[in-house]
Amino acid sequence: MNAYRLILSVFLAMAIFPAAAIDAGEPDPRQNSARKIAISFDDLPTLSHDILTVNDQIAYFNRIMRTLEQHNVRAIGFLVGQRLRPENEHLVRSFIDAGHLVGNHTFNHWDLNKVSASDYIRDIEKCSNLISQLDMPCKYFRYPFLHRGDDVAKKDSVLSYLERNEFIIAPVSIDNDEAGFNLRFVKALQSDSSAAQTIGQEYVEHMIFKTEYYERLAVEVNGKAINHILLLHMNLINSYYLDTLLDWYEQNGWEFISIEEALSDPFYSKPDSYVGEQGLSYIERVTGKE
Ligand SMILES: [Zn+2]
Repeated sequence: MNAYRLILSVFLAMAIFPAAAIDAGEPDPRQNSARKIAISFDDLPTLSHDILTVNDQIAYFNRIMRTLEQHNVRAIGFLVGQRLRPENEHLVRSFIDAGHLVGNHTFNHWDLNKVSASDYIRDIEKCSNLISQLDMPCKYFRYPFLHRGDDVAKKDSVLSYLERNEFIIAPVSIDNDEAGFNLRFVKALQSDSSAAQTIGQEYVEHMIFKTEYYERLAVEVNGKAINHILLLHMNLINSYYLDTLLDWYEQNGWEFISIEEALSDPFYSKPDSYVGEQGLSYIERVTGKE
């Protein structure tokens, strides 16, 4: 951690933790059990935004890998099949060799709101075939954009395919706009490093805000704390700021757990009652929010 990030980390611990204190009368998620969170990355291997070179992407991927190792995190990453190339396949292999899991995120990163169930299922199969050709273990699936079907027939059709093929669906409890911060960060870094640094600070504060928001929402919906699953992307901003974010989790009593342990929480057996176009946190889905 460099000096700037150490200062930022101390600032966050001092300035933001008191702001997170639960108001009298609100449920306190901390009273139930240790706070546990699984770390997940969408869009493996990398995202270029048509700006970053292959070497930039390899360098940032490896910075994220070092951060995960330093914090003893065992994560899961969701592969977009068409982004896998000879020049980046070794990154996914190193991810697995480090003890992380790889899941299926469709071949073309398709949006289920925009394609038929049958086309979508073929795209899942195409990604599965690629992963099995590479001899990588994979049993988890995450819907791109967290879109699970905008009508009942489409939703049920894809869901029954996933169940028949013994996929484990990897939901998200802590949804956020992290990808939007990354795009602004990537663009700013091309010309103005201080603007990029400001975006990075805002990003960390935003992620803390979202974590605390969904922590409270889970208690409201479930009556007690749940094991959380954080949505991140394998992107440039995390190669600079994931370390600060993981420091914050550690300083605030969070324990990093596997996706398997997170999903052992009975909360994730609650029926997903939402049908519609929105990409939602599982906490929102079980409330049937429209
Ligand atoms: Zn994605």
